[in-house]
Amino acid sequence: MFLKAILFDQHGGPEVLRYDEIDAPQPGPGEVQIHLRAAALNHLDLWVRQGWPGLKLEFPHIPGADGAGEIAALGENVTDVQLGTRVVINANLSCGRCEYCRDGKENLCREWQLLGETVRGTYAEYVVVPRTNTMPLPDSVDDHTAAAAGLVFHTAWHSLIRRGDLQSGESVLIVGASGGVNTASIQIAKYRGAKVFVVGSNAAKLALAESLGADVCIDRSKVDDWSKSVYQANGRRGVDVVVDNVGAGSMPLSLRAARKGGRILIVGSTSGPELELDDRLIFLKHLSILGSTMGTLRDFAEVMQLVFNGILKPALDRRFPLEDAAAAQARMAAGEQMGKITLAI
Ligand code: ZN
Repeated sequence: MFLKAILFDQHGGPEVLRYDEIDAPQPGPGEVQIHLRAAALNHLDLWVRQGWPGLKLEFPHIPGADGAGEIAALGENVTDVQLGTRVVINANLSCGRCEYCRDGKENLCREWQLLGETVRGTYAEYVVVPRTNTMPLPDSVDDHTAAAAGLVFHTAWHSLIRRGDLQSGESVLIVGASGGVNTASIQIAKYRGAKVFVVGSNAAKLALAESLGADVCIDRSKVDDWSKSVYQANGRRGVDVVVDNVGAGSMPLSLRAARKGGRILIVGSTSGPELELDDRLIFLKHLSILGSTMGTLRDFAEVMQLVFNGILKPALDRRFPLEDAAAAQARMAAGEQMGKITLAI
């Protein structure tokens, strides 16, 4: 049996992507095969396509961490779900046996894999994942919403709630207004009862942030130093928590925007990973820098339940047919998206 997928055989630009056929994966013990109906793009997909030193993929590779669809085949020992059940995928593949997995910290698993990064992903008609990496979808949630929510809400939830221990009444600055993790972070911080500040690059992106509940929006194209704007807007006090997944382009100002004793949360670095920092800000202000990546099985269950209840809603940008994945990735690379770009499969 063959499936149609977006494949690439070497790293490079969008031109390396091809829409072609490949053998469909079959589920092993404890696994399920999913007939995908929607996939969602993440920045990760661009980096995996471009490659980095040390990344070793089995070619052809299939991008994509996020997806939703119907269970099409069951592996041995899978008895708690039925063929045809609609599910959303948790892209974090963990062994279930190591010390971290036994401790409920599956995102630190010794054999951790990520769908679409280290193994073939969801830009495809079918994918195979462990049954534990699927969650049944209620009828009220469509495939694109579910796929769009997966990775970013999971990541933002783990960062803000588990690692950041965000409390009601705290102030949170989110650097970046329109990306997937940022739009998820705005909603999660509001759900938690925090006051949310957002720094964005233009009025349209800030309008999106405001529509998601941001309390104070600062257009960085209109101010010299947005850390001062945040300080002034928060009663001449820095914020309790800064979410900075931009990295090199913003971290110096993020450290300034935090209050004494504040926490800086990092799950990625879209503008580059090598930081130049004045470390006096870290020790003199007693700052805590908390990194995290993805989330645990418990986090996924908690945050997706809030998505299913309609309390958290992924912002959706455009939808492309699977075969137009290169155009979808080009839109993301240009930073034009307002929320999540999805693929219809
Ligand atoms: Zn493990």
